[in-house]
Amino acid sequence: MIPRNLVYNRPETLAEAASAFAAAREEGLQPYYLAGGTEITTFARRGLIAPGALIDLKNVPECRQLGREDGELVFGAALTLNEIVGEGSFPLLAAAAKIVDNTVRNRLTLGGNIAGMLPYRETVLPFLLTAAEARLFGPEGEREVPLAEVFSRRLKPGPGEFLVQLRVPEAEASLPWFRRRRVKQSRLDYPLLTLCVLRAGEGIRLAVAGAFDAPVRSREAEEIVNEAGAPAADRAARAAGAFGLRVRDDQRASAEYREELLRGALEEAIRELGGEG
Ligand SMILES: Cc1cc2nc3c(=O)[nH]c(=O)nc-3n(C[C@H](O)[C@H](O)[C@H](O)COP(=O)(O)OP(=O)(O)OC[C@H]3O[C@@H](n4cnc5c(N)ncnc54)[C@H](O)[C@@H]3O)c2cc1C
Repeated sequence: MIPRNLVYNRPETLAEAASAFAAAREEGLQPYYLAGGTEITTFARRGLIAPGALIDLKNVPECRQLGREDGELVFGAALTLNEIVGEGSFPLLAAAAKIVDNTVRNRLTLGGNIAGMLPYRETVLPFLLTAAEARLFGPEGEREVPLAEVFSRRLKPGPGEFLVQLRVPEAEASLPWFRRRRVKQSRLDYPLLTLCVLRAGEGIRLAVAGAFDAPVRSREAEEIVNEAGAPAADRAARAAGAFGLRVRDDQRASAEYREELLRGALEEAIRELGGEG
């Protein structure tokens, strides 16, 4: 049960959304932008957060945009994961968004997955591998910046800002790709490891979720994977240890097991995407 009265606001424009958030904050209510609402509801029920106002982004057209514009693919933050899976213009993203089951994917959103508090944030991985731009809106208006400027382990919008869209150069969306997702039991589980890979002109780009406490792209691991001449197995083993982050170790899997999953997936990626030395 959520033991509080909540102000619920459903703006129809970007400006209305930012104003509603600012007004709620001024009134001393703790505002949250809301999309699918699954995480907000769960966390509020458990008493982990105490929202006083919810600003629902689902009626803001820019947050629901999906398509092509000026040589870019546009993904609105309030799109459901199923809408992204079904559209498929960025095949690696469509694969990465295929988490949980069909029913839950009708609820979970891109923005909620990337901005959420759970450590997996699997849908950000494909974007981290491209020159993706994040379009944000807040009290100062709109800005568009490279995703890397506002995403480091988690989304870091400015005060009162929300994610409107992610935009990807069309040419990068069709690069050869690879994804491996490893779970403990059922494919509905949270991942022990998700590896997303794109093969670009300069070589392999890779990003990982599940193995660490946040999703990451590792240039150090990429350098090793792209070394010419060395055997795939050797490069994969060295790259798996090159992230410089503590591997998760919990009741679902040991750090050694997760690192072995990462090594195996990297070797598969090198072989499949033709980078074998
Ligand atoms: C059954 C289940 C299984 C799951 N399995 C996985 C999994 O395997 N892998 C994985 O990566 N995730 C998994 N998740 C996590 C899930 O993807 C996120 O918790 C979920 O996407 C949140 O989406 P939502 O739209 O419901 O978010 P909401 O609950 O609406 O919001 C979540 C958070 O994001 C913020 N937010 C939402 N939209 C925006 C925006 N546009 N700009 C700024 N902030 C915003 C909200 O303020 C809130 O803090 C699972 C969740 C469930 C319920």
